[in-house]
Amino acid sequence: HAIENQEIFIKYQPQVNISNNKIIGFEALMRINSSKLGNLSPKEFIPIAEESGLIVELGEWILREACVFNKSLIDQGVLPYIVSVNISSVQINRTGFITMLDSVLKETHLLPKYLELEITESTLVSSLLDATTLLNSIQALGVRISLDDFGTGYSSLNYLTSMPINTLKIDKSFIDNIGINEKDAYIAETIIQLAHSINVDVIAEGVEYQEQLDLLKRNNCDIVQGFIYSKPLLPSALIDILH
Ligand code: C2E
Ligand code: CA
Ligand code: CA
Repeated sequence: HAIENQEIFIKYQPQVNISNNKIIGFEALMRINSSKLGNLSPKEFIPIAEESGLIVELGEWILREACVFNKSLIDQGVLPYIVSVNISSVQINRTGFITMLDSVLKETHLLPKYLELEITESTLVSSLLDATTLLNSIQALGVRISLDDFGTGYSSLNYLTSMPINTLKIDKSFIDNIGINEKDAYIAETIIQLAHSINVDVIAEGVEYQEQLDLLKRNNCDIVQGFIYSKPLLPSALIDILH
């Protein structure tokens, strides 16, 4: 009942261009503040929502809200930013996903190039029925695609080169070690170089420390998302820092 009780809300975490410190977009992250259960982490409720199928409704809700929010920012005259929305494997495998996406864009009047869908590597590799067709349909709508959680699971270079992917997000658990483990630093460097050679931008996720940021800068990483710049923010707080 979280939707109807208006217990769901969104925080947005800025994504920052590493070379000029400018915000280029933000990721929409779902939150529930339940009157009965208090604040719930998405790590708790997303898996349950996926098992029960409720993720389909929740996912459509956040997609629409994020598009409405981003369109309102553009209408207020701030520079256009890209809003990123996480898409669950359960959601994307449902027939009608592309139709739903298309109608949300039409209803909200957000230009598709200002929307990015974050799809995890594991969704793509293990649970997408027909990944190529789906991703091509998303791309055909003009919506950007980001490969989430890269580096922890399959690190499938094949997917990276054969799918229409705009950005690759190096997972936090991997970024955690780049400052302390030389091997991890080399791997990060190699992933960034490979991504660049096929025109894919790289986002480093969960950057907390200056040493991590310095290393990513030296290796020409494009975008950083992490507490070092900002935690996920309520819409009003995000608008404040955008201004
Ligand atoms: P994710 O997609 O990997 O999102 C990034 C997570 O890392 C977020 O956690 C964010 O708050 C956290 N994070 C970012 N920078 C830092 C940092 O510097 N340090 C630390 N310690 N954490 C950082 P959050 O918001 O708790 O979300 C957890 C996961 O829940 C997300 O991981 C995503 O898989 C899922 N999720 C959240 N919202 C949605 C949604 O609307 N739909 C779906 N399907 N999944 C969602
Ligand atoms: Ca994500
Ligand atoms: Ca992640």
